[in-house]
Amino acid sequence: MDAHNKPNAPVLDSYWMPFTANRQFKAAPRLLASAEGMHYISVDGRTILDGTAGLWCVNAGHGRRQIAAAVERQLSTMDFAPSFQMGHPIAFDFAERLAEIAPGPAGAKLDRVFFTGSGSESVDTALKIALAYQRSIGQGTRTRLIGRERGYHGVGFGGISVGGIVNNRRVFPQLPGSDHLRHTHDPAKNAFVKGQPEHGAELADDLERLVALHGAETIAACIVEPVAGSTGVLIPPKGYLERLRAICDKHGILLIFDEVITGFGRLGATFATDYFGVTPDLVTTAKGLTNGAIPMGAVFASRKLHDALMHGPEGQIELFHGYTYSGHPAACAAGIATLDIYRDEGLMTRAGDLQEDWHEAMHSLNGLPHVIDIRTIGLIAGIELKSRDSAPGARAYDVFVDCFERGLLIRVTGDIIAFSPPLIVEKEHIGEIVSTLADALKRVK
Ligand code: PMP
Repeated sequence: MDAHNKPNAPVLDSYWMPFTANRQFKAAPRLLASAEGMHYISVDGRTILDGTAGLWCVNAGHGRRQIAAAVERQLSTMDFAPSFQMGHPIAFDFAERLAEIAPGPAGAKLDRVFFTGSGSESVDTALKIALAYQRSIGQGTRTRLIGRERGYHGVGFGGISVGGIVNNRRVFPQLPGSDHLRHTHDPAKNAFVKGQPEHGAELADDLERLVALHGAETIAACIVEPVAGSTGVLIPPKGYLERLRAICDKHGILLIFDEVITGFGRLGATFATDYFGVTPDLVTTAKGLTNGAIPMGAVFASRKLHDALMHGPEGQIELFHGYTYSGHPAACAAGIATLDIYRDEGLMTRAGDLQEDWHEAMHSLNGLPHVIDIRTIGLIAGIELKSRDSAPGARAYDVFVDCFERGLLIRVTGDIIAFSPPLIVEKEHIGEIVSTLADALKRVK
């Protein structure tokens, strides 16, 4: 395919794009060239308001010089160090900084930190830690992993096994024994809700049903996103997470919160764990960990799990798991600089400060053509459109293209539009998001 006749336009042939309809994209590419604050600039010089913090990750906004300088400094001091049998101070320093703000209540924080390179790696790491822990306490029959329908936990074989996106699962084999709770979204009872819906806590009892079906002695862990993001913003009903925690406790099942999206301020607390006041055994993170600037993930583990695995014979590797890029020096530098910005600018609580305005603005779209539900929590919104009979997802995709052409980046999943702006968003940006989307909804067929 030829370059598409614009200055700075790259040749598009060789790059096999992830999670993209490659042929459709390459026929009409959308290319971003630079980014600053709340905005991208496209290769053809247009300013695009970022309604999605990149992909739920640029929580402090784009172009943060402090992060770039920290990475530059680190790369010119030491670019890489082996992560196995060798250490470097910055990885330990970053873990200590994370331990200070780790999810969980004072005295019971999940302050043992395992570094990975992405959200998918964090998920597979957490599942492995759960399995290794169960085995270490003499519960080696517990090999089953439970996820949830419409959950997204990345694309590793662990993640797709517990994940509940049919398209991600259909083509590939899954881990034996994985099973799923139902998802929590019930539009008949909970439409157009601000915050947590009233109805549906009892859906957590699905875990009791799976215990009855398989036997608790076969189940190692249950993983859920506190708020499901990628599948269209599914917010846990009041009492649901508490009930899930209680059922896990009753049956010796570990609870994992996948906070790849909700971690680092998205809901108005540093972690959803703290926002909801329900503490799991493991928390997976990535994205906002480094403001998206350098790929990195981290798993937060309770001391109970960590210490149980530290008990083997001296000199023996405790967990046969890790990555070349675990604790990469440049990623740690980006992470520390990111935490400094979050702290200095009060960004971990900003979503809470903006909450009322956000709810109001997003729910003002109620009544516009095609809108069948609006869900909001923290600085997240899901706006669900009625699907075209013949082509599910096509209407939201058209809205996405229209918004992009008019200077707003939104994210669509099926016929649901998701917003998660950088946490530095101002009220005027929120107003612009609403008016651009409203116009697009009026135009779309
Ligand atoms: N878990 C959740 C909840 C996610 O939202 C994502 C990414 N959207 C992942 C895992 C996977 O992260 P990554 O794409 O960095 O592998």
